[in-house]
Amino acid sequence: MVAPLPDAVALTRALVAQPSVSSPDPRHDQPNRTVIDRLAEWCEHLGFRVEVMPLPQDPSKANLLATLGDGPGGLVLTGHSDTVPFDAERWATDPLELVEDERGRLFGLGSADMKGFFAAALHAASRFRAGQLKEPLVLLATADEESTMNGARALLEAGRPTATRAVVGEPTSLTPVRMHKGILMQAVRIQGRSGHSSDPANGASALEGMHRVLGELLALRAELQAAHRDEAFRVPIPTLNLGRIEGGDSPNRICGSCHLTFDLRLLPSMDPPAIRAALAERLDQLFEGEALEVALESLTDVPPFETPADAPLVRAAEELSGQPSRAVMFCTESPFFRAMGMETIVLGGGSIDVAHQPNEHTSRGDLERAAELYAQLIQRFCVEGAA
Ligand SMILES: [Zn+2]
Repeated sequence: MVAPLPDAVALTRALVAQPSVSSPDPRHDQPNRTVIDRLAEWCEHLGFRVEVMPLPQDPSKANLLATLGDGPGGLVLTGHSDTVPFDAERWATDPLELVEDERGRLFGLGSADMKGFFAAALHAASRFRAGQLKEPLVLLATADEESTMNGARALLEAGRPTATRAVVGEPTSLTPVRMHKGILMQAVRIQGRSGHSSDPANGASALEGMHRVLGELLALRAELQAAHRDEAFRVPIPTLNLGRIEGGDSPNRICGSCHLTFDLRLLPSMDPPAIRAALAERLDQLFEGEALEVALESLTDVPPFETPADAPLVRAAEELSGQPSRAVMFCTESPFFRAMGMETIVLGGGSIDVAHQPNEHTSRGDLERAAELYAQLIQRFCVEGAA
């Protein structure tokens, strides 16, 4: 007789205790392998075939792909294994120790976003045996969602997993989500020539060049906002935020170089590569034949995401949760699963409002309700077999 799976709170506690911060800042970045190893053990215990896939860029990070059952099609339950960095001194409790209060709330780093998801998904999976499944159930844990999304990018590159449907278990208070915006984070660098400010002919001002770039970006923003609108979003238009600017040193020197970062948040109906290419072209034209050089650099990008409202997975999730599907303002790995051809929704317990901040929490009830909902989806799409 195999020992039963520890309860969902114990599983969450064990995962929260394994630090797995990912960050573009190397001072905070950590491996995720201990989280992956724990998940692999539990999946094997439940009869899954388990594959640990190290990231090509960094073998201290890995995705976990665990499969129960065989055959084509199937349902993926997926979450990210990493967390954002944290300020321990701003927490009321130890962020790496799951603490339950008298109301059943569970405090800990990654409790809602999204280590609790794995506990719920494992408990849902534990109700099924491989022999019952007409289509496979895949449990997936990715690396580096909070920083580069390199885990999801590696899966897309590998074309794995192959399945028909995916549920991304980010916290949505168990409301199905079928759309979010995409992000393009970009940098513009202008290289000019510094010189004594007494005579403009001594140099070429990168700062004045950037002034024209800013004008061009704000014009682009106005054009995009006039042309695109989607009322499903709380902010129904695409946005462009000027985030950071840096350039020059002294009032009496012509500014030799200037650097700007900004982000564009684009609606699902928009084509980010085309918009970026058009912007690069406009900036080139702006300085044609001049002493200033301009370069547009991509910092990161997450494509926008949309699954059609009438997709069977959307319909089933609406019916089983009792909630209409909606759009959210945060980004997920969903577009990568869409790009692999999967019907994809975001659906998970806990609230995004408490994520990425001190005293993040989920609750015993959230874990139980999520497990119940995932079990119903497994029943519908893996046991009964999808249409
Ligand atoms: Zn998350």
